[in-house]
Amino acid sequence: MHGVEYKVIVGLEIHVQLCTKSKMFCGCAVEFGAAPNSRVCPVCLGMPGVLPVMNKQAYEYAVLTALALDCRIAMFTKWDRKSYYYPDLPKNYQISQYDLPLGADGLIEIPLESGQTKKVGIIRAHLEEDAGKNLHTAGNYSQVDLNRTGTPLLEIVTEPDMNSGAEVRALAIELQRMVRFLGVSEADMQKGHMRFEPNINLAITKDGKEYRTPIVEVKNLNSFRALERSVNYEEQRQLDEFLDTGVTLEMGNKTTRGWDDEREATVLQREKEEAHDYRYFPEPDLVPVVLTEGWLDDIRLSLCELPLKRQMRYVREFQLSDYDAGVLTADRSISDFFEQALKTGAEPKRICNLLTQTGLKIAKEKSFGINELGIKPQSLARLAEMVDAGQISASSSVPVFEAMVQTGKEPEILAQELNLLQTSDAGELEKVIDHVLAENPNAVEDVISGGKKSKKARGFLLGQVMQKTKGQANPKVASEILAKKLG
Ligand code: ZN
Ligand code: MN
Repeated sequence: MHGVEYKVIVGLEIHVQLCTKSKMFCGCAVEFGAAPNSRVCPVCLGMPGVLPVMNKQAYEYAVLTALALDCRIAMFTKWDRKSYYYPDLPKNYQISQYDLPLGADGLIEIPLESGQTKKVGIIRAHLEEDAGKNLHTAGNYSQVDLNRTGTPLLEIVTEPDMNSGAEVRALAIELQRMVRFLGVSEADMQKGHMRFEPNINLAITKDGKEYRTPIVEVKNLNSFRALERSVNYEEQRQLDEFLDTGVTLEMGNKTTRGWDDEREATVLQREKEEAHDYRYFPEPDLVPVVLTEGWLDDIRLSLCELPLKRQMRYVREFQLSDYDAGVLTADRSISDFFEQALKTGAEPKRICNLLTQTGLKIAKEKSFGINELGIKPQSLARLAEMVDAGQISASSSVPVFEAMVQTGKEPEILAQELNLLQTSDAGELEKVIDHVLAENPNAVEDVISGGKKSKKARGFLLGQVMQKTKGQANPKVASEILAKKLG
C-alpha cells in the first residue's frame, strides 16, 4: 500500500422537519403518533382539483434558519413540482423549490474534537413537503400512512467540506442545537425530525497521480451514530474498491446505498437519478413568494446569538469549562435563564453551578423545562450571592433551591426558615471559639507546638466549633479567627 495517500470528502443533505402546528400547504395538524390516515384532507391526499395554500409560519421558520446559516436570502422565490411515483406520495409529485431556493451561499461553524472550529459551506436551503410513510409491518403486504404527507421540511445542502465521520457528526449535532435554539424544529431524532444523506468519495494520491472515487450517497440516516459510521464504512470500502479495481469518478456512476444497522455496512440500492428524471416544472397552483424588506426584518428579530458562539463566549468571558458552557447552551431556555441571572451582577461560575448541578437535576426529575420551575432568574442570582457571601454553605444551597421550587419563596426567607444561615458574625464566633479552646487544652498545645500533630489538631478544633454552632458557623470566618488566636 505504499505510495497511497487519501482523504475522504463529504457533503451533507439534511431534511429538518419544522415545528409548525399545521402542514405546509393545508390546514391538517402536524402530529406524531396519531392514528394512521387521521390527519389528512383532500389537499394532502392529492385529490384532483384541490388548491394548496402556503403556510406562512413555515416560510418564516425556514428563512430564519437560512439567516442563522448566513445564507443570501432570496427576495423572490417560487415553487416547483418534483415528479416521482411512490405509494407514499399520492399526488405523484412533491412541491419543492428547484432553481430559486430561499437561501444560498451560507456557512455553519462546527466544533472539532481538537477544540478548534471549522466553517462548512452551505450551498442552499429550501422548503418542501414531506411524503407519507410506507409500513411493512403487517403480513406480506405493505400499508401506507399519509399523516406525514405535506409536513414542512427544510432541506439544507452543504458543500463537500467535511473530511471525516467525526466532522459530519459534529455538523449534524450543531445543526440540531441551532434549530432547537431558534425554535424552528424539535429536532427529535426518534421522531425522524432530522434525516441525513451524506455524499461521500475519496481523493487519492497514488504514485504521484491524483484520483477521485465515484460518489456514493447514503440515504435516509436518522441517527448521529449511523451517520458517522456510514461515512467511516464508506471511507474504507471505497479505498478497498479503488485499490482492487481502480474505478474512478470518471468511470463509475454516482450510486445510492442504504445503511444496514445490523451489519454496520452500506448496501447498494440503485444508480442515482439525475435531476432531469424528476421533470421539475413551476407549480401552477401556488403564487411565487415575494419577501419584502419589512417582512424580512420582522423575521430577523427572532435571530439570536447562536449556541456555539454563546458557548465560546461563556468560556472566554466567564472562564467556564467548555463542558459547563456546552450544558448551558444545549437549550435556549437554560441559556437565556443564565443570562437573565447574570444581569444582577452575581458570579457566573456560581450561577452556572447552581443551574447545571441542582436546577437541571430538579427539572429533569419533574420532566420540566427550567422556566417551568417557577423560579425567577433574579432569585437564583440571590441564592448564588448568598453562597458567595458565606451566608449559606454551598451544600445548603441544594435544600434551599429545592424549597424555592416547592414554595416559590425567596432564598433569604427559606435559608432562615430551614435554619441554614451561617454565622459570619466575628464577635459571636469568637465567643464560641474561646469556649472550644478552653475545653480542649491538649489540642491547643498540639497546635502551638507545631510539628506533625498540629494540622490534625487545628482540624479537630474547627470541627468542635462547627458542632457547637450546629454547622452554622461560616467555616472560612471560623478558621480565620482560630488562626489568629493560635498564631
Ligand atoms: Zn391536509
Ligand atoms: Mn428533499
